[in-house]
Amino acid sequence: MLDEYKEKQKIVYKILNNAIKQDRISHAYLFETNGYKDAKTVALSFAKSLFCPNKYTNYEKCLDCKQCENIDKNNFIELKWIEPDGMWIKKEQLDELQKEFSMKSVAANKKIYIINHANQLNVSSANTILKFLEEPSENIVAILLTENAYQVLETIVSRCQIISFQKNRDDLNDKMMQKVSFYISIPDIIDAEEKLIEKIETIEKFVKMIEKRKEEALLFTQHLWHEQMIGKEMNQFALSIMFYIYRDMLATKVHTVPFLFSNTLVEELAEKNTVSQINQKLKIVNEAKENIKYNANMALLLDKLIIELSDV
Ligand SMILES: [Zn+2]
Repeated sequence: MLDEYKEKQKIVYKILNNAIKQDRISHAYLFETNGYKDAKTVALSFAKSLFCPNKYTNYEKCLDCKQCENIDKNNFIELKWIEPDGMWIKKEQLDELQKEFSMKSVAANKKIYIINHANQLNVSSANTILKFLEEPSENIVAILLTENAYQVLETIVSRCQIISFQKNRDDLNDKMMQKVSFYISIPDIIDAEEKLIEKIETIEKFVKMIEKRKEEALLFTQHLWHEQMIGKEMNQFALSIMFYIYRDMLATKVHTVPFLFSNTLVEELAEKNTVSQINQKLKIVNEAKENIKYNANMALLLDKLIIELSDV
């Protein structure tokens, strides 16, 4: 149950648990999983806690109520899972959901639907779900799951409370942490390993977006960069990390040993770029890093950086 994630997903746990305890449940949640492998189980545990009349969030099975028992048996009509049918989540699947959910609840005072891989909503299914989200019914709760929030239509995201998971910790090994702190000057505001990992993950996400969805990068700069990288020192740190990500793309490309980052993201992005493209990008990032020293306008500098990187 939910309590199992008290330590593993501290922030997520805190938000969800408080919502249950205070009985302040949003009508729609977007679980940004960031690749966290148990996010589905967290969603199910959360749903269970909402149905359980005892607001049961403990480790052990709730032996007290019919709701929990039926959910465990996957036999609870007020809870519906939706998975992509092939490539997409189809409009028909959502029409059916709406039809079912328009009927009065019989087994509980709520209805909950969970959409896994919400990034696989196509235009027509997204529109259907959007209408559903726009007219929230008091007793219906939506939980949407996706790896990254920016993969989901902004109009959907804006109607959900975003719950962002922490990545699986083994993705970043301790050795790498040591190296980072050795080669890059870490700002004082990062005073714990956890914060360091969080910042690095944000920067990785940012690079991923520039590389994969460059047409949207400018839209998300505010959220993914400016709200996270505050102050000149922090910005310099962030650009250093960015530099090393590109540097290790190059290392992967020419089959030498990566310096800091050797993960699937770096491999994937190395695949997309030629050696000369990566070299150009390294130059651009390095220039931006130099320019911070003399330039106070981070917004302008960042926009310029994104545009230049996208043009390579
Ligand atoms: Zn129960």
